[in-house]
Amino acid sequence: MFRIILMGPPGVGKGTQARLLSSTLSVPAISTGDMFRRQIRDQTALGRELQALIDTGEYVPDDITTAVLADRLAAADAQLGFILDGYPRTRAQIGDLDKLLSEASIGIDRVFVLAASRATLISRLTDRATTDGRSDDSPDVVLRRLQIYERETAPIVEEYGRRGLIVEISGEGAPERVAEDMMRAVGRI
Ligand code: AMP
Repeated sequence: MFRIILMGPPGVGKGTQARLLSSTLSVPAISTGDMFRRQIRDQTALGRELQALIDTGEYVPDDITTAVLADRLAAADAQLGFILDGYPRTRAQIGDLDKLLSEASIGIDRVFVLAASRATLISRLTDRATTDGRSDDSPDVVLRRLQIYERETAPIVEEYGRRGLIVEISGEGAPERVAEDMMRAVGRI
């Protein structure tokens, strides 16, 4: 059973690594960003509400984000484990997740913190803008997202450090190499 959180700045490879880990460990990769983008694509009421925030790189309010995550965690396929990609991102979300998990009498096994240089992040996000066409990968929004990560999320990573859950992984290498490093660490869970 694997309950894993992936943290790290935009462009560090959380999505790619979540998918690789998900298929190796046979637990779902859960991305709040993907769920929000689906709502926007499907033009739901929530999607319409969130579009401007996501397009400008601002965080979605905690109550909305946690409600979407709680729904997904309740699904049958998440009962035997999950990889969280992009949640939690704020101190309030750490508290929300603690509450959700303690209600289910479960805990997190490991928090992988992926890191890469700012130059690597910016060049990957700029490349992704041309391949994936994400509205929030434009140069000005990329800088804003990095800034918000530094302000809101980087300082809260240490909360999991205090709990002894963190494994730091370099996200600089090729995806397969990064995945190998994570699998080695997963072997120790
Ligand atoms: P991502 O695909 O993880 O880069 O997320 C894309 C966008 O969705 C972010 O820039 C935020 O606007 C929003 N988002 C995703 N996850 C969260 C979260 N945990 N808290 C707040 N906003 C989020």
